[in-house]
Amino acid sequence: MRCYDCLQEARSDTTGIGVCSRCGLATCENHARVRQVQVTRQIGMGAAYGRFPARRVVCHTCDMAETAH
Ligand SMILES: [Zn+2]
Ligand SMILES: [Zn+2]
Repeated sequence: MRCYDCLQEARSDTTGIGVCSRCGLATCENHARVRQVQVTRQIGMGAAYGRFPARRVVCHTCDMAETAH
C-alpha cells in the first residue's frame, strides 16, 4: 500500500499505515493525521458520549480541507 500523497511528490519509499476515512486513499505516517473523535451513544431519549474516544485517520489533504478557514 503506497501513500497517495507520497506518490504525488514522487516518493515511493514510504509505506502506507492507513486509509483516509474521508477520501479512502492510502496514507503514510507522515501524511496521516490521526484524530480522536467522540462517539455518541443513544441512551433512552438522550445521547451520551462513550467513555473512550474513537480513532479516525484522515490524510494530510483532507485534514487541511477540514481545518482551513
Ligand atoms: Zn505520504
Ligand atoms: Zn483524504
